[in-house]
Amino acid sequence: MIFIGFIDVNFFKEVIIKGKDNAKIEWNGGQQSIFFSKIQVGYGFKHFIICPICGQNRAKLYLEGNLFICIDCCSVKPYNGIQNTTKGGDAYIGYKMERFATRCGIGKFEYPFDYLKHPKPKGKHSEKWNRNLKIMQSLESMRFQSIFFKKIWKSRTIKSVETGKNKYIQHISLNELKRYFFPFDNGV
Ligand SMILES: [Zn+2]
Repeated sequence: MIFIGFIDVNFFKEVIIKGKDNAKIEWNGGQQSIFFSKIQVGYGFKHFIICPICGQNRAKLYLEGNLFICIDCCSVKPYNGIQNTTKGGDAYIGYKMERFATRCGIGKFEYPFDYLKHPKPKGKHSEKWNRNLKIMQSLESMRFQSIFFKKIWKSRTIKSVETGKNKYIQHISLNELKRYFFPFDNGV
């Protein structure tokens, strides 16, 4: 299997909050209706995506062939590294995010990345922390644009964002980076 991408129930939080139990997703070469389920946990609910093959509740589905299915239904286990991914595509950006988060001390995070979930730990330099969050939030925006608009990013754009040199990182607030899509190619 060539690992092109995966979807995570967290990507659909806003749709689920509105009470919808399904969503239509489109990507390069295909489309699929996905269905959500929920299980009561204490006073709240835990949400899942239903695997179209086995019908089990899953947090993530992986693209195999032309269908997003669960890991148990994949004929080969998805490979979570950078090999076999489209350079500049969503999985590639996700890989970059995970690497950057580890390197700069943000550590583990949930998709979609949200800077509000990562307050500055004691002892960290606040300007530096803020810059690292902006890099992560910008990469998240790029990843999202790759998933939903099939955008493939140029290496130099990714590099300018990863190093914090992109104009949008320098001039746009964290809140705006989270809320709006910016054409990061123009900020190189
Ligand atoms: Zn399955």
